[in-house]
Amino acid sequence: IERESRSGRQKNQLVVLAGPTAVGKGTVSTYIRENYPDVLLSVSATTRAPRPGEVDGVNYYFVDDAEFDRMIADGELLEWATVHNASRYGTPRTPIERALEAGRSVLLEIDLQGARSVRAAMPEARLIFLLPPTWEELVRRLIGRGTESAAEQQRRLETAKIELAAQDEFDHRVVNTDVAEAAREVVDLMKIRTAPSRP
Ligand code: 5GP
Repeated sequence: IERESRSGRQKNQLVVLAGPTAVGKGTVSTYIRENYPDVLLSVSATTRAPRPGEVDGVNYYFVDDAEFDRMIADGELLEWATVHNASRYGTPRTPIERALEAGRSVLLEIDLQGARSVRAAMPEARLIFLLPPTWEELVRRLIGRGTESAAEQQRRLETAKIELAAQDEFDHRVVNTDVAEAAREVVDLMKIRTAPSRP
């Protein structure tokens, strides 16, 4: 990874977008993928089943437990976590390293545990937390999505409370009221240049 030079220029960046369930991380990420082609959106591997409309290799690499175990054993994942006490999710390492070497910025849409792992592995990563306008709106979005059972919704809301409590660990916070605006804020933050380091 290329680090900032004395002039404060930064050629490429690893940016993590995290935030509670149903806040719209996926929607904002998809919007960025479709409207900001310079940004590489990392495609995670997961053991969960595809939702209607999700495409293998685009939204996720949908793999079974044995394949996920193999990816861990072979060191193919930069980080991985069990999310919502259910499925496993992990970030493939090679596409990210290649993109950063080629001078592209990379966006990871991962959970809080993943954000912490990336921060530990790559301290220069920039962490962005996506917030709902209100808690009630978050609940409304989760129920409105209608892709989880009532029990699963409860489990996700419990996780959401824990994640919201950790928002201060992040470098930036973006409120997702309007998808296009939130996406623009995230992309703008990717271009922020840090202050030149003092000699
Ligand atoms: P969903 O099942 O709704 O697509 O995602 C559930 C959660 O898993 C979200 O919080 C999402 O950010 C997280 N997630 C997706 N991919 C990864 C990954 O590669 N690593 C980690 N740690 N979390 C991920």
